[in-house]
Amino acid sequence: MRLTRYFLPVLKENPAEAQIVSHRYMLRAGMIKQQAAGIYSWLPLGLKVLRRIEQIVHEEQQKAGHIPLLMPTLQPADLWRESGRYDDYGQEMLRIRDRQDREMLYGPTNEEMITDIFRSHVTSYKELPLTLYHIQWKFRDEMRPRFGVMRGREFLMKDGYNFDVDKESAIHAYNRHMVSYLRTYERMGLTAIPMRAASGPIGGDNTHEFLVLASTGESEVFYDEAVTTLRLGGIDIDYHDREQVAGIVQKFTSFYARTDETHDPKAFEDVLEVHRKVGRGIEVGQIFYFGTKYSESMGATVTTADGRKVPVEMGSHGIGVSRLLGAIIEASHDDKGIIWPEGVTPFHAAIVNLKQGDSEADAACEAIYKGLQARGLDPLYDDRDARAGEKFATTDLIGLPWRITVGPRGLKNGVVELTSRRTGESEEMSPEAAIDRVAQIY
Ligand code: ATP
Ligand code: MG
Ligand code: MG
Ligand code: MG
Repeated sequence: MRLTRYFLPVLKENPAEAQIVSHRYMLRAGMIKQQAAGIYSWLPLGLKVLRRIEQIVHEEQQKAGHIPLLMPTLQPADLWRESGRYDDYGQEMLRIRDRQDREMLYGPTNEEMITDIFRSHVTSYKELPLTLYHIQWKFRDEMRPRFGVMRGREFLMKDGYNFDVDKESAIHAYNRHMVSYLRTYERMGLTAIPMRAASGPIGGDNTHEFLVLASTGESEVFYDEAVTTLRLGGIDIDYHDREQVAGIVQKFTSFYARTDETHDPKAFEDVLEVHRKVGRGIEVGQIFYFGTKYSESMGATVTTADGRKVPVEMGSHGIGVSRLLGAIIEASHDDKGIIWPEGVTPFHAAIVNLKQGDSEADAACEAIYKGLQARGLDPLYDDRDARAGEKFATTDLIGLPWRITVGPRGLKNGVVELTSRRTGESEEMSPEAAIDRVAQIY
């Protein structure tokens, strides 16, 4: 993309309404625009990051054998009457009437609808295990929408639902979700710690939340510092291998890590004192095993191998896709702006032309631009007729991890400069070498 042909409405001033850094930078970098409290338009740069995050979520879910579908945002109230949640859900649910005076709602989550789909089509254990998921907009009329996309009212969530014939198989689905989530967050450059959580209105007692440590997080967290050093890294995962998957879950849940809702001060004392940490975290996902809570009330049954008819075992598993943008920025920024991890960056590299209009500099920038594209990359070429300082400020603010700076002086010696946004370190090299280096990184 050439910046002069893009739509990147950056703000020079700090917006007064933004209380935390991620919200401030998302507004300043022209990623989002608020349309009403907790409701945002996604401007082109914001949408690009959102799509990259969605893509990673899709890939990791499908590696785990989970199948995408798409349910609507609007749901009939009657489905929720079957589970009893229409009355229980309270003010967070946005209730709507259509022209026929039918009661509808904007879905805050989809347990009822997915259970309805399941019971309409599946009757036998032979069709199990089955996990269906979608990435769809949700609406929750939050009491205090704030912090930009972190606590929106309309927000994008991945929610997945497993259907299994027995508890063992449902626990394996739970474990699969935990492992696929760990991998998902790691690919986004995040450390998200699974913490034992309380179940809330969805019900059930086997649940973990995934928390990204950040001083601006809304949850209070208590943990053994050792848990923060765990990584999946590049290990091969066979999601059919129950033992391997359970082993990873065991490893990641072996240290004390809880939110304030489940915190047990007595048990916390068993943690080595120097490792005992209290802090704050951002909830970027949650997994639940809840057994037959919905299948019983909604009549979703399957016949077993020995001919019995049983309510199907279920769980539900969510990732806060739009909240993740805020969480990533909270975890990765400096005083100049965002620092995108390579896994989610909106553009792979910036090309900054120090002297727009200089025929050699222009030609070199064009060659690098086309060279990066030929390697399958998506560069942003700052081709504005602007001062170097202004161009640097923009690429720093929008957080592109790599910058190739091109100017007449360097070109006399056959070099451009490759700069890391994270370390600030620069290295001179030929334009071809810069293209190679960036291509190797991705
Ligand atoms: P919270 O405790 O922050 O209100 P939740 O526990 O109510 O979240 P879940 O029902 O577990 O949310 O939904 C799954 C994920 O969706 C959460 O882990 C979170 O990342 C995201 N999420 C929930 N509410 C919002 C919101 N209002 N804005 C953005 N993301 C949200
Ligand atoms: Mg909530
Ligand atoms: Mg919560
Ligand atoms: Mg939750």
